[in-house]
Amino acid sequence: MPLYDIQPLKIYNSLSGKKEVFEPLNEGHVGMYVCGPTVYSNVHLGNCRTFMSFDMIFRYLRHLGYKVRYVRNITDAGHLVDDADDGEDKIAKRARLEQLEPMEVVQRYTVDFHNILEKFNFLPPSIEPTATGHIIEQMEIIKDILQKGYGYEVNGSVYFDVVKFNETFQYGKLSGRKLEDMIANTRELTAQDEKKSPQDFALWKKAEPQHIMRWPSPWGDGFPGWHLECTAMSTKYLGETFDIHGGGMDLKFPHHECEIAQAEASFGHSPVRYWMHANMLTMNGKKMAKSTGNNILPGEIFTGENNILSKPFSPSVVRFFMMQAHYTSILDLSNDALLASEKGFHRLMEALDTLEVLETGRKSDFDLEPWKRQCYEAMNDDFNTPVLIANLFEAVKRINLIKEGKESISQSDKLELTQTLNAFVFEVLGLEQQKEGNGASNKLSGVVELLIALRDEARANKDFPTSDKIRDQLAILGIQLKDGKEGTTFSVS
Ligand code: AMP
Ligand code: ZN
Repeated sequence: MPLYDIQPLKIYNSLSGKKEVFEPLNEGHVGMYVCGPTVYSNVHLGNCRTFMSFDMIFRYLRHLGYKVRYVRNITDAGHLVDDADDGEDKIAKRARLEQLEPMEVVQRYTVDFHNILEKFNFLPPSIEPTATGHIIEQMEIIKDILQKGYGYEVNGSVYFDVVKFNETFQYGKLSGRKLEDMIANTRELTAQDEKKSPQDFALWKKAEPQHIMRWPSPWGDGFPGWHLECTAMSTKYLGETFDIHGGGMDLKFPHHECEIAQAEASFGHSPVRYWMHANMLTMNGKKMAKSTGNNILPGEIFTGENNILSKPFSPSVVRFFMMQAHYTSILDLSNDALLASEKGFHRLMEALDTLEVLETGRKSDFDLEPWKRQCYEAMNDDFNTPVLIANLFEAVKRINLIKEGKESISQSDKLELTQTLNAFVFEVLGLEQQKEGNGASNKLSGVVELLIALRDEARANKDFPTSDKIRDQLAILGIQLKDGKEGTTFSVS
């Protein structure tokens, strides 16, 4: 019997506002679409949090025995600077500023995105489609929407008619808005506006002569609206109705609301069964964002090169920090929080090492079944990783008691405990034991720590030639020492 049949999995569906029992469309299979990054600059840690939440969800669904088709796109066209229908394309703007081809920008930041995700030990999605690779599919949906009367063409652009749509369907149901209120709260359209109503959104935009990212279409040269790509790609790879659609909370409106409208207008029914939204990573209490500068890059965390940090932190420590919060809660990043996570992470890893060499006895004091059930109950309760982690620490406590000889464990229970811990820690949470943030293995870390201690001794004895030699020779080997308030740390390049 697959694990998913043992206990029901409940998912908080943002559309209904309730936790619902998860029942996939096709037994044993899950189709999941997550909005990917707009590749016009380096991903910051906030972006990583959303993708990490869905990596954990992907991992757990697989662990339960589902065959998951996970589609996460790359937005390489159509996302305009002000997120609405005006302004330059984000990628075209970056290309203009850096004097690059738009596809050079796309390539550069897609590679950066993949590198960072690999450091965080993400599983690759099943399909990673691009918006520019699906222009034809997007045009087909526009034609369909026009034919069904929910769109209109003006001067080479095509807009979605929200008022018309709202007569039959309900615009705003995902984000809990009412169209009348939205209209009352927006500015009047000016004479130059092409839209009939301010809530209408672009399906296709006419490309002005200077716009470099352009494609021929029945409506003239132009480019697709941002919301359309996700409808086109999710439909192509997962069908007109699929199980899970995810993204950051900030995408609920207008992006996901528009996706629903496009799909309902075109297919006549709702596209997604479970909408899932991951909450924001904040720093100094404010949302981490590219545009405001209130952000930190993963690379800065791995090297410790940022004013808010006292030292570098490894990708697994950062991952552990993220997993200690529920994916629907806001999480604030700080040096203290990372230090606390680092401590917890090391305690967990040490317990796994201890377990490996633990002596077994005839009987077990640790009743594994209820503990294991609680681990699954936590994850089946809308992927509650903080409760799972609290349970893992219950096991850590028991392992340490067994080590101290205060409790005992049988050989078969030791095996089961090892397998269960490995499954949750490595397979589901995606943590890794070996790699430290400074890029060193445990053994190398030990050697460098020894050299740092010898260098400290030399400095205390005013033997600067020796202390400099240690620092310089390590630098030649690609190991940089960094002196800080709390002692010397190092990174390996
Ligand atoms: P973008 O590249 O701007 O389209 O964003 C990629 C993903 O990152 C989207 O799902 C956003 O919702 C998400 N995101 C952006 N800022 C944050 C943040 N501060 N915390 C968590 N997720 C975020
Ligand atoms: Zn999307």
